[in-house]
Amino acid sequence: MAISFPYKAKNELEKSGRTREPEHGEKELTCPNCHRTLPESEVERNLFVCSCGYHYRIGARKRIALVTDEGSFIEFDKDIEAHDPISFPGYQEKLEKAKKSSGEKEAVITGRATIGNLPFALFAMDPMFMMGSMGSVVGEKITRLFEYASDNELPVIGWTASGGARMQEGLISLMQMAKTSASVGKHSDKGLLFIVVLTDPTTGGVDASFAMEGDIILAEPGAIVGFAGKRVVEQTVKETLPSNFQTSEFLLAHGFVDSIVKRNEEERMLYELLVFHHKEES
Ligand SMILES: [Zn+2]
Repeated sequence: MAISFPYKAKNELEKSGRTREPEHGEKELTCPNCHRTLPESEVERNLFVCSCGYHYRIGARKRIALVTDEGSFIEFDKDIEAHDPISFPGYQEKLEKAKKSSGEKEAVITGRATIGNLPFALFAMDPMFMMGSMGSVVGEKITRLFEYASDNELPVIGWTASGGARMQEGLISLMQMAKTSASVGKHSDKGLLFIVVLTDPTTGGVDASFAMEGDIILAEPGAIVGFAGKRVVEQTVKETLPSNFQTSEFLLAHGFVDSIVKRNEEERMLYELLVFHHKEES
C-alpha cells in the first residue's frame, strides 16, 4: 500500500514564536522549560508544544483527538469507577477532586479509532487524574482493551502517563502489573502489534509493566521515564547520575526506546507503522 498522508500544519511556535498578545482575561501557560508565557489557546493550536520544544502534559481525551481520524473514536468501559477497596484515608475525597479537575472518571481512556482509516484499539492515560496512577480500574480497563484487541485481531496503540501504582489501593494496585502484562502477552501471542508512546511522566508500576512491553516503543521528547526516582537510584547505587538520566533521550541512547517522536509528527509516524503492519483480510 502506498503511503500518502497529509502532515499536520507545522508547529507555528517553532517557526516564529508568539503570534499575538493575550486578550484580557485569557488563560496563559508558562513553559516550565523556557519560562515563556503564552495564551493557552495559542499553545493548544500548536498541539501543546512550546517554541523551545517543551511538550506540555495533556489530558487523555485531547491526546486521542490530536491523532485519530475525526469522529472515529468509540469509547469503551467509560462508566467503570474506582471504589475504596482498603478504606484508605482520604481516597474518596481525592477521587472526587480528580474527577472534578480532569472531567474524567478514571486515569485511563480506552476504545477504538482509526488513523488514515486504519483501525486500532487504543488506551490513553491521563496525567491530570491523580497523575495517571494505576489502580484497579486502570488495570481492568487496559486488560479488557487488550482482550478486545485480541478477539478482534486489532493492533493496540497506548499512550502512557503515570506516577506509578495507586498507593491508596495497596496490594490491589500492584496486582495490576501482572494482570495487564498477562493480557499484553496473550495479544502478542496472536502475532498482533502493540505500539507504546511514552509521555511525561511514565514511572513506577506502569513503567515496570505494559509501558515497556510494546513491540515498538516511541517516546515524546523530554519525557521522564523510569521506575524509581533519580534520587532513590543515586542513594542506592551511590553514584551521581547524568542530568538527562531517565529522559526519553537517555533511554533512546541506551536502547530502551526505538524512536523519539515530536507531537506534530506522531500521527504520521503511527499511520506509517500501522500501514507496515497491516494485515490484509484473507
Ligand atoms: Zn518553552
